[in-house]
This record gives sequence, C-alpha cells and structure tokens, in this order.
Amino acid sequence: MAVKVQVRDLHKSYGKTEVLKGLDLDVQDNEVLCMIGPSGSGKSTFLRCLTHLETPTKGQIIINGHDLSDPQTNINTVRENIGMVFQHFNLFPHLTVLQNITLAPVQLKKETPEQAEQTARKLLAQVGLADKADVMPTSLSGGQQQRVAIARTLAMHPQIMLFDEPTSALDPEMVGDVLAIMKQLAQDGMTMIVVTHEMGFAKEVADQVVFMADGLIQEQGKPADLFNHPKSPRLQDFLNKVI
Ligand code: ADP
Ligand code: MG
Repeated sequence: MAVKVQVRDLHKSYGKTEVLKGLDLDVQDNEVLCMIGPSGSGKSTFLRCLTHLETPTKGQIIINGHDLSDPQTNINTVRENIGMVFQHFNLFPHLTVLQNITLAPVQLKKETPEQAEQTARKLLAQVGLADKADVMPTSLSGGQQQRVAIARTLAMHPQIMLFDEPTSALDPEMVGDVLAIMKQLAQDGMTMIVVTHEMGFAKEVADQVVFMADGLIQEQGKPADLFNHPKSPRLQDFLNKVI
C-alpha cells in the first residue's frame, strides 16, 4: 500500500496559542480516515495545514511524496491533487450549476469547454443532479448545492478529498443524500479525510477513526474498536454526548 498523506509532529500556533500540539498520522492510498472531536480541537486547522492554507509552526507533511515544507516543492502542484469540501459550499451565485463545475477545469487545467462540460455532466449524473445543469445554485436545496460542490471539486480530478463537516449546515433530511455520495466515492477508491459528526458514517465507511481533542490525537483505530471500546474517558464522554 502506498502512503498518500504522512504527518509528523505537526504543530500549529496562532501567536501564543498552540492549536495543534504534535500530530502524527498516515493515510494510505484508497483509505478513508474520519476525524471526530469536539469543537475547537483543531480539526479544521489540521485540514488547512494539509492544503497549506496554513503554514505549520513545526513538523512535516508529505503528500504524494511531496514534502510541503521543502522549498523545492511546488505547493500549487500538490494542491491541485487535493480537493476540499467545506461546510458552506460557496457556489458562485451568478453562474449556472454547469458553469460552476466547468470554470476551474477550463481556467486552471486548460481543459477545452467541451471536455469540461462532458466531465461536468457525468459528475452531475454521479451526484444525482443530471437535470440541474442549467439552473442557478440558489434554486437548489442546501443538500443539492453541497452535491454540486462535491461535483465541482471532483471535476479537478483530485487524488485526495478532504471534507470539513460537509453535512453540518444541512437540514437533517438532506444529510443522507450527501453521505451516500461520499460513501460511493469511498467505494470507488478515493482517498479521503473526513471531519464529521456523523458517527454512523464514520462507523460504516471509515478505515480508521481519529479522535482529536485539545490539539492532539487522543485515540485512533478501527471504527469498531474506537466506538465500541473507547479507552479514554475523554472519548467515552464525547461519544455519550454525540451518539
Ligand atoms: P475545530 O475545527 O476542531 O472546531 P479549529 O481548527 O477551527 O477547531 O480551531 C481550533 C482552535 O484554533 C480554536 O480555539 C480557534 O479559535 C483557533 N483558531 C483557528 N483559526 C485561528 C486563527 N486564524 N487565528 C487564531 N486562532 C485560530
Ligand atoms: Mg472545524
């Protein structure tokens, strides 16, 4: 198995506040890692470090063999291989669904408009929105918009997908459709890191689960072990609150 993401002794501080206090993590090719933990524990900061939206204070991140701290590394090339889906989907409101998906492949990847459109339509079908190509995003429900956002990210052909609480802003009845698409993506072999409060999804889809609290990985393992036999009182307490 090839290691896709390798994190060693990752620290991140804002001023005097240390938010990440030394994380070590490996994600293998085709693996799904779910990250759970209380608000403020550093989960989003961790994801932002992976895409170099934040520069670590200390430590090493190697993605696809590229060391992000190495000045020789072209961060943009590494970034192109990482797709990120956020809680708030931020579709361009003045563009149609199709245009939202084709914009970056045409402008950044130099795909022809025809090529990009073909891919976009295929991806829209994949997320169950084949008939919505020509509508404006605002006419869609939150869940549908998030599915478009996932399609838009996939249109860049990422090798790794990061999800930061992708269903947290959705009405409960929308959550299942988005999770189903993520599950399909996992089954198709996408390497994924998913920050989520959806414990059912983590149990079912994750290869490994990481419990973060206070900027540290407190516990890590297979979902069955972590959820059924939490070792630390911290995790026991957390699970009692969320399940
Ligand atoms: P989580 O995603 O687990 O809720 P975050 O990574 O968003 O946690 O935040 C972890 C901590 O880092 C919080 O205490 C937050 O206030 C702090 N933090 C995050 N971003 C910044 C920033 N840009 N400047 C200062 N503090 C920040
Ligand atoms: Mg967060």
